Amino acid sequence: MNQRERGIFRKYLERRGLKLTAERQAVFDELFARHEHFEADELLMRLRTKHKKISRATIYRTLELLVDSGIVGRVRIREAGYRYERLRAGEHHDHLICNECGRVIEFFEPKIEGLQDEVCERYGFLPLSHSHQMRGICRQCRPRRIRAAARSRAAAAASGRREPRRPVVH
Ligand SMILES: [Zn+2]
Ligand SMILES: [Zn+2]
Repeated sequence: MNQRERGIFRKYLERRGLKLTAERQAVFDELFARHEHFEADELLMRLRTKHKKISRATIYRTLELLVDSGIVGRVRIREAGYRYERLRAGEHHDHLICNECGRVIEFFEPKIEGLQDEVCERYGFLPLSHSHQMRGICRQCRPRRIRAAARSRAAAAASGRREPRRPVVH
């Protein structure tokens, strides 16, 4: 399993005079074990629970290499936060990202894919890859969002109301 991707990664490293070290292998195995969107620190914790000695810096460097080699995708979830996922040839999906909880939802819409191809054709552009991300509030977070908005409206209304003046006692 994952032989093809492992081969791509090994060749990529070789071209840069790097080796598939035990640490790099461990990060690869953890990412390719299942289809999820991992944060770097989640990977670190998972590897630590498996008693793998690995530094945070090594994880970040390895993730950079994996993304650059094209076998791992990166989704930006906040200003300085990414989630990483394994990519497989022939598999493609895009993402909805929740601003509140960071949940990443995958979707595939043939109409959008088709439209993107049309746009490329119009510009004589050969598409090699794309990533489409929409940011917003997920189904689970929307009720909380609505309640928070109602609370702040109520607070604004209350503060607009005049407090009855208290008699000053000396
Ligand atoms: Zn959410
Ligand atoms: Zn995904």
